[in-house]
Amino acid sequence: MRNRPGIVNLVSIRYNICMDQAGRIASLIERLGNLLRAEERTSGTGLLPVHVQMLSYLSVCNRYSDTPAAVTEFVGATKGTSSQSIAVLERKGFLRKRPDGADGRVVHLSLTAKGRRFVENNFPPDAFGAAIGKMKPGDRESLTRLLTGLLSSLQKGNGGRTFGVCHTCRYFRRDALPDSHQCGLTLEPLSGDESIKICREHERPAA
Ligand code: SF4
Repeated sequence: MRNRPGIVNLVSIRYNICMDQAGRIASLIERLGNLLRAEERTSGTGLLPVHVQMLSYLSVCNRYSDTPAAVTEFVGATKGTSSQSIAVLERKGFLRKRPDGADGRVVHLSLTAKGRRFVENNFPPDAFGAAIGKMKPGDRESLTRLLTGLLSSLQKGNGGRTFGVCHTCRYFRRDALPDSHQCGLTLEPLSGDESIKICREHERPAA
C-alpha cells in the first residue's frame, strides 16, 4: 500500500510550491522593472528613471500628496537624492514649487506645461504601452487588480503608505456635499477629478 503523506508533509509541499511561485513572480517583476527603467533611460531627454517616476507621480497625485516629502516617499529615494532630483527637474523647467496658502513652511510641487507634455509623450514608454495595449481589456483589469493587491500587501507589511486612488479610500464620502464628494479625514470637498487621483493619506476600507 502506498504511503500517504502526513499533514506536516502536505503543508511543507504547499509551502515549497508557494515559495517557488513567489520566486518566479518576484523574478518576473524584477525583469519588468529593469525593462521599464531601460526604456525610460532611452527616452532621449537626459532624465533618469527616478526623474520620470517623480514626474509621472506628480501628474496623478492630489493636493495632499504633492510635497517633496510625499514624492520622496513614493519613489523610495533618500531625502538627499530626492531633493537633488527635484532641483534638476525645476532647473530644467519640468516642475515648479509654490508655497502653501495656509502654511508658508509647506511647499507644493506641480508640473509645468513642459512637464505635462513630457509625461503625456513618455509615460508609459512606447514599447511598454504597446505591449499592454495588446492585452485583452479583462486581462489588463485583472493584472491591475492583482498587482495593486500585491503592492498594498507589501506596503502594509513594511508599514508604508499605499498611495491608493482616492475613491477607494475608507475616508472617501461620495456625494456628501451638495456639489461634490468629501474627504472624511480633512472634511474638505473633493471634485470628481480629485477622486481619481492618488493620495498619500489613502487608507484601505476595513475588510
Ligand atoms: S478620502 Fe482618503 S484618499 Fe481621498 S483625499 Fe481623503 S484621505 Fe486622501
